[in-house]
Amino acid sequence: MGAARDAAVGAVIGSAVGDALGAPFEFGPAGAFTARFPAPGAGGEMCGGGGWDRGEATDDTQMAVHVAESLLERGGLDPADVFARFQRWAAAGPKDIGLQTEDVLTGGLPWDAAAREHFRVNQRAAGNGALMRAATSAVYFAAQGRRATMAAGRRLAALTHGDPAAWEGTALFHELVRAALAGEDPLAALPDALTHVPAEHRERYAVVLDPGWHPDDATEFNGAVWPCLGSAVWAVRTTRTFEDAVRAAVDLGGDTDTVAAVTGGLAGAVYGYDAIPARWTRPLHVPLPGAGRRVLGAAELVELAGRLLTPQRG
Ligand SMILES: [Mg+2]
Repeated sequence: MGAARDAAVGAVIGSAVGDALGAPFEFGPAGAFTARFPAPGAGGEMCGGGGWDRGEATDDTQMAVHVAESLLERGGLDPADVFARFQRWAAAGPKDIGLQTEDVLTGGLPWDAAAREHFRVNQRAAGNGALMRAATSAVYFAAQGRRATMAAGRRLAALTHGDPAAWEGTALFHELVRAALAGEDPLAALPDALTHVPAEHRERYAVVLDPGWHPDDATEFNGAVWPCLGSAVWAVRTTRTFEDAVRAAVDLGGDTDTVAAVTGGLAGAVYGYDAIPARWTRPLHVPLPGAGRRVLGAAELVELAGRLLTPQRG
């Protein structure tokens, strides 16, 4: 695999692996993963539980695949089409769906009004539910450069999240993956990326993305977009391998599938597909409610990721 392809496939598979690895530990306490699997590399970590089969990816990856298939079939970003796919998915009864995402997708409003209206009424919409599904779109838009990939991240996030703070977390993740796919160090790219976040959102992200920040410093549950992205960056910054980064993420407890999905997406882009343990990819599978009875296996997800890197346009 070439370096760019290894990084692209690493981002998509890494995110799915983190999602499936973290799912059984969702809403559990910090340290639960290490307590059960003390030695890295020992095996058995992809264990299932909490209603999830071993290797089963959750809503994070399911939505990311729907985004990917829309981008590829529409030849670019067609927000109405992505929203319609999300609606079919939500209506097909996925095992898990974020509360806010469900409200927005099932509320009966059109794609360009639903999230905005939800935010207007509720005033709280800065969950991590758009950031969690961004690995596929981050790969797809990477080749279009920083401005375009950050803009696409915002537009995709805005489909379900009316709070611009959630858009900026997704935009930053897109930019970090773009840097990794370009062979740069995404952590070194962070300060510059922050300058492209609107001033009213910049400071809050600067805090959680600072090298001195620790997930214990979070002022919200890690289901919120800021500590989720901050925790993912922290996990990558403070470890040296894909496996250790994702272990650190799951071990934070809380919204473990999503924090590990975001971490795995970033770590996969940094270390590449070849660095993801085969014992974690082998049982990986992605059920796709809303798209027939399809279940994507790891090989199909690898193939999908490869197509995102070289979009077939027109
Ligand atoms: Mg999930």
